[in-house]
Amino acid sequence: MFRQAKWREPLIFELGVKGRRGFSVPKVDEEIKNAVGNVVERIPENLRRVELNLPELSEVEVVRHYTRLSQMNYGVDLGVYPLGSCTMKYNPKINEELAALDDVAWIHPYQDESTVQGALKLMYLVGKWLAEITGMYRVTLQPSAGAHGEYLGCMLIRAYHRFNGDLNRDEMIIPDSAHGTNPASAAMAGFKVVVIPSNKDGCIDLEALKAAVSDRTAGLMLTNPNTLGIFEEHILEIADIVHGAGGLLYYDGANLNGIMGKVRPGDMGFDIVHINVHKTFSTPHGGGGPGAGPVGVVEKLDKFLPVPIVEFDGEKYYLDYNRPNSIGKIRSFYGNFSVLVKTAAYILSMGGKGLREAAEISVLNTNYFLKLMENVRGYDLPYGSGKPRKHECVLSAEPMRRATGVKTLDVAKRLLDHGLHAPTIYFPLIVKEALMIEFTDTETKENIDEYANIMRKISDEAYTDPSKPLSAPSNTSVKRLDDVKASHPRTMCLSWRMYRKRFKGAER
Ligand SMILES: *Cc1c(COP(=O)(O)O)cnc(C)c1O
Repeated sequence: MFRQAKWREPLIFELGVKGRRGFSVPKVDEEIKNAVGNVVERIPENLRRVELNLPELSEVEVVRHYTRLSQMNYGVDLGVYPLGSCTMKYNPKINEELAALDDVAWIHPYQDESTVQGALKLMYLVGKWLAEITGMYRVTLQPSAGAHGEYLGCMLIRAYHRFNGDLNRDEMIIPDSAHGTNPASAAMAGFKVVVIPSNKDGCIDLEALKAAVSDRTAGLMLTNPNTLGIFEEHILEIADIVHGAGGLLYYDGANLNGIMGKVRPGDMGFDIVHINVHKTFSTPHGGGGPGAGPVGVVEKLDKFLPVPIVEFDGEKYYLDYNRPNSIGKIRSFYGNFSVLVKTAAYILSMGGKGLREAAEISVLNTNYFLKLMENVRGYDLPYGSGKPRKHECVLSAEPMRRATGVKTLDVAKRLLDHGLHAPTIYFPLIVKEALMIEFTDTETKENIDEYANIMRKISDEAYTDPSKPLSAPSNTSVKRLDDVKASHPRTMCLSWRMYRKRFKGAER
């Protein structure tokens, strides 16, 4: 009997029939038996397992079980995934195939350099390409994520000021619209975080910046386009203010999708850039990994980069550890290699023109969506009125909440009922009831039309029959979770044992 996946699928431990098998183990040869002797007797008694409760199933039952579970999942290969700031674009399958090639997947970082010349060349080239795209002097590929790149950037800023004997620079300036990792990274690197407000355009308030800089300023961390998707037009002036005060400019380049091939952080005056290649350069990154956050720097910061640096002497590629001013190592070996292979595959398959076109389409998709959402009751577009957005936009459902009691969280849950993934919500913090939406370059016009239509439908419901969005979702595997309980160590349910205890006797 065909059965769709449903909420609370049985555990594999709860399936099967005693004695059923999905495999047959070959008989052990007498010869081996004699050579090994009685293995069990050699294991100390207190370490011997007396009982082993493995599920007993046939192969087809196992396949069906996991296929059903996979149907409870949602991913970018299934539908729209418009998480603002996270850039969930489609990841071409050829990237995966190349990263899975035996010659790529089975090499080992302890191998002699002479045997991994191809891998070193790939890293060398990816570094060069990313330096070109960002306008930096050199790029290290080592950081494992965006936040790791930020932390490295902060360490580089500290190393630079120390090198110059400038020991009092302990303040990092960060706008209130920043991604949460920025202040966290700065604080972890030992800086005091100085928050400056955004103006009505959602950009940096220049007067507030002028007032914030001093001889204690280590640097400014900035995203441009910012988290509202708005380009900081006064970026050159901002760079002058910070440099004039002796600070450095750090560019959070997690989201290069709206600008690559169009403008470069280096040309805007930035000294350090991290790039989330798992966002912009197409590595699947749901669930927290895997990723890579390469960091580019201007020439005066080159000597502080972590070791090793992949170098080329005209004949062979090698690892340069001989860098006396380096801040040292920030992770094992050279970086998250398989992710960098996907980056290389993506950049090569797109080419310079293709990357620029991707940026253009991602911006077009954002602004097309905003046009569709104009005059839809309940949502508005705070900050930067009339300004175009780049890779993403941030709507506010505050008017809807005030009029109907339906909040952004309810809209997000109701979208799930329509088989759509919700956008990023409640970020950036400067927007009330924020819905942060990013379709990326890989979404189709039809899907954007549909998304806007359903957002309109939910708004209509909010104003006519709010019980629907308020009680959503109603047709997903799991109903509305208790956010607090779901992350509380006492009630969090991580293993099948806890799951069973919790749901024992529950309806299935
Ligand atoms: C995703 C993101 C980060 C953090 O990147 P991770 O790889 O998740 O550590 C930082 N800044 C912005 C703007 C981001 O969107």
